[in-house]
Amino acid sequence: MQEERDVFPTSFLLDDQQRRLILSWSDGHESVHSWEKLRRACPCAFCAGEGGSPGMLQRRQQLNREETTLVNLEPVGRYGLTPIWEDGHRTGIFTFEKLRQLCECPQCRPSGR
Ligand SMILES: [Zn+2]
Ligand SMILES: [Zn+2]
Repeated sequence: MQEERDVFPTSFLLDDQQRRLILSWSDGHESVHSWEKLRRACPCAFCAGEGGSPGMLQRRQQLNREETTLVNLEPVGRYGLTPIWEDGHRTGIFTFEKLRQLCECPQCRPSGR
């Protein structure tokens, strides 16, 4: 039996001031994601590596402003979102589940960071 996932983002907000993304979810939760952390978590082969070879993110200490500026989000099927970055990068697919795991709100990350 497959688990039915009916929690999905209903809207999003790009907070230019604090450089973070705020997602509203169908269950009422609001998740918070700083752009830099989101880019660092990009799961695509280019960023995260593939087959044991390190990706761009492992080789780079610093990311530049374009690489960590989120300009838009595009839905991927019914399971995920692709962030569109200012440097043109748009191949990372974040599933809804992963986005919820990455949430940085005080409720999800009580210890702060
Ligand atoms: Zn990527
Ligand atoms: Zn949260």
